[in-house]
Amino acid sequence: MEIVPVSPRLAALRFAEVNDLNVYVWNDGAEVTLIDSGLPGAAGEIERGLGVLGFSVDRVRRVILTHAHDDHIGSAADIAEWGAEIWVHQADADIVRGERPQPAPVLRDWERPIADALELGPSPRPAPVHRELRGGEVLDFGGGAEVLAVPGHTEGSLALYLPCHRVLFTGDTLANVGGVTMPGVFNLDSTAVEAAAHRLTDSDADVVCVGHGEVLTAESLYAWRSRRSAR
Ligand SMILES: [Zn+2]
Ligand SMILES: [Zn+2]
Repeated sequence: MEIVPVSPRLAALRFAEVNDLNVYVWNDGAEVTLIDSGLPGAAGEIERGLGVLGFSVDRVRRVILTHAHDDHIGSAADIAEWGAEIWVHQADADIVRGERPQPAPVLRDWERPIADALELGPSPRPAPVHRELRGGEVLDFGGGAEVLAVPGHTEGSLALYLPCHRVLFTGDTLANVGGVTMPGVFNLDSTAVEAAAHRLTDSDADVVCVGHGEVLTAESLYAWRSRRSAR
């Protein structure tokens, strides 16, 4: 796990072995909000990362899960045991609670060999859900965090926008692994994901925190937008 500082309020804990998965650590001074929770078994690494950033685990007030895939919800049960609340969109909440399996993605032809090569790890432990989100709420961290419902990657996928800081968290609706910016893969509805990714990057964010890969800055966002409009 690598600790990537983004701003005084924001750092990424990046897991290279999970396709550059990010667990984001947002702090409002003493109070910490995590965006996503990594694979099952990641809680120890997250605790270590928090320690390096100067936070004990009891500072984590909440974890907001961008969607209910194993690499994002995997350690939510462990983090809930630290005393943090788990918040997730209502359409994915029963998956987090272990009441329903995640439906299989609708793969495009080129995604099949990639999906076939993936090794399945242990399933996440069921986690409690303390708050179910719907989209449209403004959450009490980061100066007010807007919840944007972006169904497509999963039914309950969400993005978060912090207008005071112009920071956007996209979950897996957008990825930026190995310098390639692209809408997410392994989706329930890839057409919806493409549309949502374009909609999100047309916002006035100048820091875009993707689920997998490097954080996009204003310059890289501008380059991605102009490549799109050149097509
Ligand atoms: Zn995902
Ligand atoms: Zn993912």
